[in-house]
Parts: sequence; structure tokens; C-alpha cells
Amino acid sequence: MPDAVGKIMNALEESGHEAFIVGGCVRDALRGAEPADWDMCTDATPWEMFDIFGKPEKTGGKNGEYYSGWRIFDTGAKHGTVSILINDKLFEVTTYRIDGKYADNRHPDSVRFSRSIEDDLARRDFTVNAMAYNEKRGLIDIFGGREDLRAGIIRCVGNPAERYLEDALRIMRAMRFSAQLSFTIEKNTYDAMNKYAYLLHNISEERIREEFVKTLTGIGSLQSLDRCRKVVGEIIPEAVLMFGLDQKNDYHCYDVWQHTLHVVHYVMNTAPLKLAAFFHDIGKPPCMTLTEDGWGHFYGHEHMSAEMAESVMKRLKFDNKTTALVKELIWNHGIVFQQTAKHARHMLAKFGEEKLNMLIELELADVSSQAPSCAEERVANIEKFRGIVSDILEQQKCFSMRDMAIDGIDIMELGVPQGPEIGRILKALFARVMDEEIPNEKDILRREAEKML
Ligand code: ATP
Ligand code: MG
Repeated sequence: MPDAVGKIMNALEESGHEAFIVGGCVRDALRGAEPADWDMCTDATPWEMFDIFGKPEKTGGKNGEYYSGWRIFDTGAKHGTVSILINDKLFEVTTYRIDGKYADNRHPDSVRFSRSIEDDLARRDFTVNAMAYNEKRGLIDIFGGREDLRAGIIRCVGNPAERYLEDALRIMRAMRFSAQLSFTIEKNTYDAMNKYAYLLHNISEERIREEFVKTLTGIGSLQSLDRCRKVVGEIIPEAVLMFGLDQKNDYHCYDVWQHTLHVVHYVMNTAPLKLAAFFHDIGKPPCMTLTEDGWGHFYGHEHMSAEMAESVMKRLKFDNKTTALVKELIWNHGIVFQQTAKHARHMLAKFGEEKLNMLIELELADVSSQAPSCAEERVANIEKFRGIVSDILEQQKCFSMRDMAIDGIDIMELGVPQGPEIGRILKALFARVMDEEIPNEKDILRREAEKML
């Protein structure tokens, strides 16, 4: 536990209050993972905390300054949350709460502060997220979170239906934690998820997007997304036609949905690549045609998928940059890389190093998820292409126009007057040397320059 956390908890205890670390950090510490943030809860009200830690500072204005002591900020005192800044790090401390009724399936109409940690744990979403710890009382685990953590189970605290009706975002969170932790979802928690998935219409696109991306980037995304098809179909109805769609050709051993899940699973773990993988074949169902002998084709599906990805991502309020990148990757995922330096140079010029590497990663994951009979050769070809690309990049680092065996004076000796024509000739020769059409030898370069005149 970081020093600062101990300091905050000590200060509260010395003032006669209780304090615990709670939620995600307890879960992560128990499973031996590094917690992302250290949230605390206490029986002290925000106003009692302002007294203990000094008067509130408005968040914003003074951000970025260095404070040697600590400062307290009013993050949401009305709802019980303050932030305490120690040595440039911000920690959230929240007063024990009992949430009132929820009229909109998302926000409690009112919150009441409580003096009991048990009340606070009862309002939390899943048993694995509803544990608290301090040195005095040890682990507080009234809902069996530790056992569920050990067994790998996501289970609602209390009655799942009631908890989803209170806050439908928990449906997305169940899918997300199941993906991040590779946990199964307990049956009642799962059944109620499917039954109330329609309530997700009441949840903002931004919140859905956040949980969806965390699901995609979780190590257990394949199993979680597959189990939670009902939820996926609710937030992205366009995906439903992929479920179970037989591709009717020999390249594929999976239906479109299972293939998609495998690509998501295999692709490098960055949000744009996971998104590109998820949407890369979403346009296949509307593009499917069958030849007379029953062979399936999907002409133009790359473009259809790219358009559909863009429309879904806009709806879910993804930023323009990510949306454009994902669209471009999907649009181009059908490019068959040739194992020549010329093609590699062309691809580098078209996409740039970074984007080309992403496209390579996407295509590798794509062909790895096809029938083993053709996957092996296709993977080998892409790997070979990747090798050629990195050789070129390596060469480019050590070979520039200046390393050419011919220069401007040589060109002038051939009768070209001083001026831009010289640069044009040198550039053209340089491109042909880079394409390995001609060697970097003075005599040959001279001869080629003469031909060009
Ligand atoms: P992460 O590592 O993603 O931050 P986390 O468990 O800390 O995981 P947060 O979204 O930061 O997740 O929430 C902190 C804690 O607050 C959760 O562990 C849970 O106890 C509680 N919580 C958050 N959102 C809800 C919710 N919608 N309903 C009930 N409890 C919630
Ligand atoms: Mg958190």
C-alpha cells in the first residue's frame, strides 16, 4: 500500500474515524495484481474531512503545482467524495453511502451518508468489488468476495435483477470484469443480465463505450463477448447478423462471429487494433453471395465493414481520430502483401511505418483465425513481408541521398545546367536504387542518367 494511503487513513483514525481501502484496489491486491488506483472510504462526512485535511480547494486552477503537504478538493462532496492530494498524487476518499431509489436506471435520486462500512459495501456492484481492508479490522468481506475471487466468479451483491434495475450500467460492468479478469458470470447474475439488457438504452453512449473498450482489451474478451452476445446485440445491433453465419468456403473453420472473436483475441492489445478486429468483418453478412455450387463470397465487405464501424463508433461517441484510424485499417485489411521490396516500399509510402505495422498486426490476427489449411502459408507470407519492411526501414536509416555513388557535379558533367533538373534526376535514381532496380555504382548510375536525358 502506498505511503500516502497509510497517511490518509492514519489521519482519519487519529481524529476518531474509521477508514478502509475499498473496491478495485482490494480486489487487485488480493489477486496479486497492481491496483490502478487506491480508493478509500470512511465514516467521516466530507465536512468532517475538510476540517481534518484543511479547507477545500477548488479543483482546477492550481493543478500541476507541487504541494509538499496535503490538500483536499471538493470532487463531489454532496455525494460524499473528496480528493486528497499528497506529493502530486490524488486519492479519492468517499463517505459510507446508502444509495436511495433509482428512477432512471442509472443515478440514485438521493444518497444518504452512513456510519457503517457494511452499508457501503452493500451498494457496490459485485462481490469481488465489495471488500474493504484496514489494519485494525483486517478484511471486511460480508458477501463472499474472496471466495468468488478464488473461484473466478462475477456475482452481483444482492438480487441481480434489482441491482440492474437500479443501475443498468452494471450489466456492461459484469461483461467487462468477466473479460478483464477472465471470470465466469454466476448464473443468476448472468440470466438477469440477459433479461434486462434492454435497459442499456437508458445508459449514455460514453459509459457504454468505456466499458466496451475495457471488455475488448481484457484478456478474456473472447469468452466474455461470446457469453454476452445478448448484451453485445443490445449495444451494437449491427453485430447480430454475424452470430452463427456460416461462411461456406474452405478458408474458414469458424462462422463470422467466432472468427471475429478469435481475431480480437489474437490481435495486439491496443484499443484501435481491438476495435478494428471487432468490426473488420461486420459488413460480411450484408455482402454475402453464393455461387451456384454453394460457395460463399463476400465481395466488398472490407468497405462495408469500414462504413459500418464508422457509424457504430460515431454513435458510441468515439473520438474522430480513433474512428478514422479504425476505419482505415478495416478498409485496407484485404490487401494481400507481396514479398517484394518494391511492394513494401509502396505500402510504407501509402500508410507510413506506424499504420502499416498496425495493418500487419491486424492481418496476422485475421489469417491466424482462418482454417489451418491456409492459415500457415498466409501467416508465413505476412511475416516475410514484415521482415522486408523492417529491412527497408533499417536501410533507410543508414542510406540516404547523400550515400549515392553519384552527385550533382557528375550530373552537370553530363551537360545538365545548374538548376532543379539535377535534383529531379538524382531523386529518380535514388528511388530506383532503393527499389533495387539498379545497383549503387557510379558507372551504372551515370549510364542511367544519360538515358534519362
Ligand atoms: P478499475 O480497475 O477498472 O478502476 P474498479 O473496481 O476500481 O476497477 P471503478 O469503476 O473504478 O472500478 O469503481 C470503483 C468501485 O466502485 C468498484 O470496485 C465498485 O465497488 C464500485 N462501483 C463502481 N461503479 C459501480 C456501479 N455502477 N454500481 C455499484 N458499484 C460500483
Ligand atoms: Mg477504479
